[in-house]
Amino acid sequence: MRILYLNHVAEISGAEMSLLSLLGGLDKARYEPVCIVPGPGPLTERLLKVSPQVRYAPFVRFKRTRNPLLLFAYANLLPVTVKPLVRYLVRNEVHLIHSNSTIAHLHGGLAARQMGLPCVWHVRDLVPLGWWARVYARWTHKIIAISEAVRTHLQRCHIPAQKIAVIPNGVDLSVFAPRSSSLRPSLGFTEAHFVFGMVAQLVPWKGHAFFLRAAAQVAQTIPNARFLLVGDDLFGDHPAYVQGLLRLTESLGLEASVRFLGFREDIVDVLASLDALVLPSFNEPFGRVLVEAMAMAKPVIATNVGGPPEIVDHEINGLLVPVQDVSALADAMRRLAQDRAWSEHLGKAGRAKAEREFDIALTVQRTQEVYEELRGKG
Ligand code: UDP
Repeated sequence: MRILYLNHVAEISGAEMSLLSLLGGLDKARYEPVCIVPGPGPLTERLLKVSPQVRYAPFVRFKRTRNPLLLFAYANLLPVTVKPLVRYLVRNEVHLIHSNSTIAHLHGGLAARQMGLPCVWHVRDLVPLGWWARVYARWTHKIIAISEAVRTHLQRCHIPAQKIAVIPNGVDLSVFAPRSSSLRPSLGFTEAHFVFGMVAQLVPWKGHAFFLRAAAQVAQTIPNARFLLVGDDLFGDHPAYVQGLLRLTESLGLEASVRFLGFREDIVDVLASLDALVLPSFNEPFGRVLVEAMAMAKPVIATNVGGPPEIVDHEINGLLVPVQDVSALADAMRRLAQDRAWSEHLGKAGRAKAEREFDIALTVQRTQEVYEELRGKG
């Protein structure tokens, strides 16, 4: 079965990391992946290692808008960007389209409809879809939701339950495994420091400001606590937010204990250098980085909203805190830093849960079951 995977950006965030691991584990004797991305970029480079066939096609990064001029422009752009996809499908035999995001599905779903092909829409976010949800659903044979939270969100948009399969993202447990890191000294940290890390795009809904404010409280009682912020404003959409975080670090007097690392390719090494991972998002569809950290036996702290409560079991393999509650977050961070043995115990339980529920082999198997269900449909 030749499958056309569509991704609308060439940068790497959670959706792309998950696509890479899916392709890495795919049974290549049964499925032949062809990937379409908008052009060269970090994703393209890594895709070439797991799938020899990578092609380029323009995608429009549609943004939610009510601006009638922009909507008019989008309506005119879409057929233009779908055309090269359809041309590819006319010239090459493809049996199924797998859209790796909602924007990709806007292109992939239309092309699939035009060509009478089965299509999978992978829903990886919780953004409001309004009446578009039902249109998108009509263009798809199966929707993969990355968490129960996403499934609930889709059902609230009146998408029929039988169209949705919940398949959590998985990680390669041999890559994300407990190990030591050589990175700590280069970051100015010693073994005596307790290092909290946030690994997330620098976008407001990830809650970095809450992490920094909680860090300021923690630093008052735990002088050896250190704080790492890893990730970037990948699409350049939030320059003011990034500047605001730098200013906040300064105004909280945290310059000596906070490090901003930007986007890192060596995320396994970065995670290995942490004592605990923190993800204080306001609304998180999944939180892949939680699973990565847990697989590396790191204790995690996450907000009790969206996907994270499906991943983290409170006081068993991590801690859950209310959204936008600086004091609760600071308390949770202190609990970990003050009891290293308990932290390590939570981390080990996290690894066990990752082995049980988030092995990439499981994700691949369940995704392949969806492909089999759609074989020959159109
Ligand atoms: N990531 C990375 N380098 C960075 C920051 C993040 O490789 O500097 C990866 C991280 O390891 C994870 C993904 O990006 O695999 C983020 O996924 P998550 O679901 O946590 O967040 P998203 O960006 O999809 O909202």
